Amino acid sequence: MTAIAVDWTRCDGHGLCARLLPEKIGLDEWGYPLVLDPEIEPHLVGAARRAAAACPALALRVR
Ligand code: SF4
Repeated sequence: MTAIAVDWTRCDGHGLCARLLPEKIGLDEWGYPLVLDPEIEPHLVGAARRAAAACPALALRVR
């Protein structure tokens, strides 16, 4: 199973991940990500990897 997780020691709330993977990530009122569902279905794996690669803080993990 592929899943996403946020490394809270790194995340600084750019919110980019929520724009790139809105199916799985929302934003709280401070702009920090809310993982709505960590499990990534096969058709979203590419988008999840792109979101992780785009995170300026390298805080979004896909495994
Ligand atoms: S893009 Fe990275 S730093 Fe920005 S909110 Fe998402 S996980 Fe945090």
